[in-house]
Amino acid sequence: MDVFIVSIADFCIILIFSCIECFKHEDLVASLGLERVKGSLNNNSVEHNDMKIGIAYIQCCFKTHKSFSELWDFASFQELKVLEKYARQVEGALFKGLSPWDEAFYMCNMKGDSFGLDYKVVASYFPIQQCIEGLKLITRSLFGAVLKEVSLAPGESWHPDVQKFTLHHPAEGDIGHLYIDLYSRRGKYPGSAQFALKGGRRISYDKYQLPVVVVVCNFSRPSSSSLPVLNHWELETLFHEFGHALHSLLTRTDYQHFSGTRTVLDFVEIPSNLFETYAWDYRVLSRFAKHYSTGESIPLELVKAMKKAQDMFSATELQQQVLYALIDLTLFGKKSVPIKDTTSVVASLKSKHSSYKYVEGTHWHTRFNHLITYGAGMFSNTAIYILGVFIVLLI
Ligand SMILES: [Zn+2]
Repeated sequence: MDVFIVSIADFCIILIFSCIECFKHEDLVASLGLERVKGSLNNNSVEHNDMKIGIAYIQCCFKTHKSFSELWDFASFQELKVLEKYARQVEGALFKGLSPWDEAFYMCNMKGDSFGLDYKVVASYFPIQQCIEGLKLITRSLFGAVLKEVSLAPGESWHPDVQKFTLHHPAEGDIGHLYIDLYSRRGKYPGSAQFALKGGRRISYDKYQLPVVVVVCNFSRPSSSSLPVLNHWELETLFHEFGHALHSLLTRTDYQHFSGTRTVLDFVEIPSNLFETYAWDYRVLSRFAKHYSTGESIPLELVKAMKKAQDMFSATELQQQVLYALIDLTLFGKKSVPIKDTTSVVASLKSKHSSYKYVEGTHWHTRFNHLITYGAGMFSNTAIYILGVFIVLLI
């Protein structure tokens, strides 16, 4: 376990220092527990030189992001052909060509069919309370801090689903408080997010206002007769949002508006994306992912199949991320001519940087929240997604 964590942390600290210039954010480095590997930047081993070359390559690609997109054109086109062939086999004589709205459906089915994955079987290894045990396990292993469920005071909770935890360190004392509210219900905030209810801040030399954060998800509510389990993509989401929560809980700043996720946009998705990688590593999964009825740990072969399925269509997914970044940079970046019509911008970029054609009369970008919440920052989100792919490749 320790070897795994050092290896990933080692890589990430190089990403952080090399790509996003986050060396200015000492508190965030501390929050990731990475001081012990700072020295690796000066390490001259072959392994680290390889990483530095890789990072330099990525930096170069990002500086010329349009050519970076073009790098994936061929691979993405080949993946489209493979997907078309699969859809033709499934639909037979009814097949009339692959439309953009078929993409996600057939990709998911083809991944499952190609690697013998039954998503219900995968989910049977992720009872929700075991997944929370996984969060506790990683937190203790990385930071020596204990995530302990505590009871809610009368009137403290906004819904019976809510659970409360206190993050406690044996030497530091209580570090912060976390609420989780995981199931979908009518009138609830849609999607998944982490919110700081109260940012941490220094009150005096020896007093600190502890952060209070909440993780909100919209997982399907289990029926009254079945044990709540998560799909693997829901586990990934939980880990992602928990990565944000830890970032908020562990940082120590003078002012609450600089605390945790209230930081520069270029950095904010790093802890969460880093945390997601733990949802893919067998050495971590085998510690908490246990079958809901037998208690058997998730089989290694099943995790290998899940990872292979994840890698399928990786060029298409990467190209999609680059397209998001290009749309964002075109709409919010420096403009040579004023933009009058966002739809034509999206249509034009999609025709150049995607294997899928733009469909006349559609305006999908209007429901793409990150263009508003991450205006001009989607680029860094894409960079982190790509770096995340490299991390998973290293595992
Ligand atoms: Zn996030």
